[in-house]
Amino acid sequence: MSTPAFWQSCLESFQRELTQQQFNTWIRPLRLELAGEGLCLIAPNRFVLQWVKDRFAGRIEELAAVAVGRPLRLAFVVADAAVRPAPASAATLLAAPEPKPVAARRGEQASLNPGFTFDTFVSGKANQLARAGGLQVAEHPTSYNPLFVYGGVGLGKTHLIQAIGNHILENNPNARIRYIHAETYVSDVVRAYQHKAFDDFKRHYRSLDLLLIDDIQFFSGKSRTQEEFFYLFNTLIEAHKQVVITCDTYPKEIAGWGLTVALEPPELEMRVAILLSKAAQTGMKLDEQVAFFIAKHIRSNVRELEGALKRVTAYSSFHGQEVSLTVAKDALRDLLAVQNRQISIENIQKTVADYYKIRVSDMHSKKRSRAIARPRQVAMALAKELTQLSLPEIGSNFGGRDHTTVLHACRQIAKLRDSLPEMSHDVNFLLQVLRN
Ligand code: ADP
Ligand code: MG
Repeated sequence: MSTPAFWQSCLESFQRELTQQQFNTWIRPLRLELAGEGLCLIAPNRFVLQWVKDRFAGRIEELAAVAVGRPLRLAFVVADAAVRPAPASAATLLAAPEPKPVAARRGEQASLNPGFTFDTFVSGKANQLARAGGLQVAEHPTSYNPLFVYGGVGLGKTHLIQAIGNHILENNPNARIRYIHAETYVSDVVRAYQHKAFDDFKRHYRSLDLLLIDDIQFFSGKSRTQEEFFYLFNTLIEAHKQVVITCDTYPKEIAGWGLTVALEPPELEMRVAILLSKAAQTGMKLDEQVAFFIAKHIRSNVRELEGALKRVTAYSSFHGQEVSLTVAKDALRDLLAVQNRQISIENIQKTVADYYKIRVSDMHSKKRSRAIARPRQVAMALAKELTQLSLPEIGSNFGGRDHTTVLHACRQIAKLRDSLPEMSHDVNFLLQVLRN
C-alpha cells in the first residue's frame, strides 16, 4: 500500500483552512493509503476517527475525486500502531506523530468526544436554557447539582453533557471526569457482580469529581442498577461532586433536585444555523438557500439534519457537482418522499403526545383531565387540518369518539389559538413539525 500523491496537497489545503492546533490535533496524525479501488484513511484512535469522519470525510473525498478524476470510496480505520507502524517514507513534516496533549489523553480516559464542545453547540430558543445551565455548571461545578437534561432523540443531550466535561477538563486537566452511557453503566454493574468486584466498582465511581451519565431511561426495569446508581448519586452529591444526567423524558422522580432543563426541537432558523455551522466545520460551501431547503424539510431533530447534510455532501462529491438546490433535492428525494407519506394520524398523535409529554395511548383513552384532554383536542384539530380524514374517521381513531367531539375540539382549539399566545405557539410549532 502506498500514500497517494494528492494527499500532500490535501494536507496543504487543510493546513491553510484550519488553525494550527486543529490541524495538529486532527489532521496531522492521519495516514491515507490506496486500498484497491478506494482509499483508506487511518486514524490513531476512534476519537480522531469520528471527528474526522464527521467533519472532513466529504472534503477529503472531494479533493481525492478532483485529483484522481473520478469519485473514490473512502474507508476509515483505526490504526493498530503495534502492528503497522507509520511507513518511514511518510515521515515528512506532516507525518511526524506528536506526543498527545495531556488534555486529549485525559479526555479519552474520561470517554469524552473532543468535538462536542460549547463552541460547536449552536444555540437558539430551543436549547437556550439548557445551554445556559450547562455552561453555568461547567464554569462553576456544583452550582446546580445534579444538572438534569432531558429531550427527545437527536436533540443534543450527549453533545451538551460532553461539552460540560470538555469545558471542565480544559479548566482543570486534573479533574477526574467520567462520561458514561447508562447502558455501559449497566454492564459495569453486571460485570462487577460476576467478578465479585463491587468494591473496585464503587471506588472507581466514587472517586470522580464529575460524573456525566447519559440516557438513564436505560435503567428502567433494572432495579439492581437503579439502586446502585442511587447510592452513587447520593454519595457524589453529598461529597459536592458534580453529577449531570440525561434522559429522553421529563424526570418526575428527580424533579426538585438541582436543576432540570429541556432540549426542544429547533425551529427553522436554528436548523439553518446548525446546518451552516456544520458545513463551515467541514470546510464545505453551503448556500443559505440550500440550507433553508434542507432545514425546511428535515424537522425531526439535529441528528437527522446532520444525516441529510451528509447525504447531500456525499451525493455532490459522488456526482462531481457543487452543492446546489438541485443537488440537494436529488440527494434527499427518497427521504422527502417517505416523509410526505408519513403525515398519518398515528404520526400526528405521536408528535403531539411527545410534545406534551403524555402517552400516545392517552390519545385513545377516556381520561378527561385537562393535561391530557387538551393535547388530545390539539391532535384532533391537527388531524382535521393535515389529513383528508372525515370527522367520524378522526373520532374513531381517537378511541372511538363521536364526530361531534372532534368538531368541538376543532372549534375549541381555533378559539384558543386566537386568545392564548401559548396555544398559538404550540399549534404553530406542531404544524411546522408535521407539515411538508
Ligand atoms: P442526543 O444525545 O440527544 O440523542 P446528540 O447529542 O447525539 O443527541 O446530537 C445528535 C447530533 O446533533 C450530534 O452530532 C450533535 O453534535 C448534533 N447537535 C445537536 N444539537 C446541536 C446544536 N445545538 N448545535 C450543533 N450540533 C448539534
Ligand atoms: Mg445521546
